[in-house]
Amino acid sequence: MLKLISGSDLAKKRREEIKEEVVKLKAQGIIPGLAVILVGEDQASQVYVRNKENACKEVGFYSEVYRLPEATSQDELLALIDKLNHDDKIHGLLVQLPVPAHIDENAVIHAISPRKDVDGFLPENLGSLLIGEPAFEPCTPKGCLELIKESGIDISGKKAVVVGRSNIVGKPVAMMLLRENATVTICHSRTKNLKEELLQADIIVAAVGKANMITGDMVKDGAVVIDVGINRDENGKMCGDVDRASLEGRDCYLTPVPGGVGPMTITMLMKNTLESATR
Ligand code: NDP
Repeated sequence: MLKLISGSDLAKKRREEIKEEVVKLKAQGIIPGLAVILVGEDQASQVYVRNKENACKEVGFYSEVYRLPEATSQDELLALIDKLNHDDKIHGLLVQLPVPAHIDENAVIHAISPRKDVDGFLPENLGSLLIGEPAFEPCTPKGCLELIKESGIDISGKKAVVVGRSNIVGKPVAMMLLRENATVTICHSRTKNLKEELLQADIIVAAVGKANMITGDMVKDGAVVIDVGINRDENGKMCGDVDRASLEGRDCYLTPVPGGVGPMTITMLMKNTLESATR
């Protein structure tokens, strides 16, 4: 039978643990603080930012949200980042991507202090991950690892196939699986034999952004499948990269979309902010 790994349930558990840590920190006079900057009117970004704001409230963090107009200049944005980099109330700082086209996304990411980069997007943090030093780990990959472990599988020695090689999901999740002693293969748009690769996998992480592209005939029995994708199907319904219907009745683990990786991503952002405040 297909077993679903609920990211919503696991996120709830993790947030309870974070809440308890916040109470302890508050007793020492420290309140973890997260600042989020949103530029422009992107609909999806507005939802993500609201969810982050609500998560902060839920776990007892101090939060600041800056909703800036589309016409904000790059210099104005960089000045705000600089101010927040030096603000002691703020332990984590992020700019919701994408930014409007007239702003250089790279310049924005690089302006954030590595000490407050709770998204884990900066080269300093990704580099530390690569060489095995303590770092803010990017939130989505960190959530993926927790979901894999929740299935009960022992990652060590297993064959893991990551589909997608973005800097924010595919590459870091592959590094984390390697750190856990998996044998890791990374597939991407030029991979010639995706199905054969996937059929060997004990663990699959799908981070492509193509609705239902991974089907049951590409997954072996017993596999743990983490579906990172957020897509719309032909009826406009939210779906992942994995075709859940074709896995029904199979002896596998799967994270649902919605309710899988999404809630874990935000929860890992809270965890990173807590870690930053603890440092
Ligand atoms: P990117 O678009 O940056 O990367 C997609 C990757 O998929 C690329 O490496 C690309 O290969 C690869 N790819 C494209 N087509 C194929 C194919 N036919 N076969 C194999 N590989 C292919 O996306 P992200 O990594 O940013 O995000 C991936 C998905 O995850 C999206 O749906 C996004 O919305 C979702 N997401 C969800 C999050 C969550 O919290 N749940 C957080 C972040 C992302 P190449 O490099 O060769 O172009």
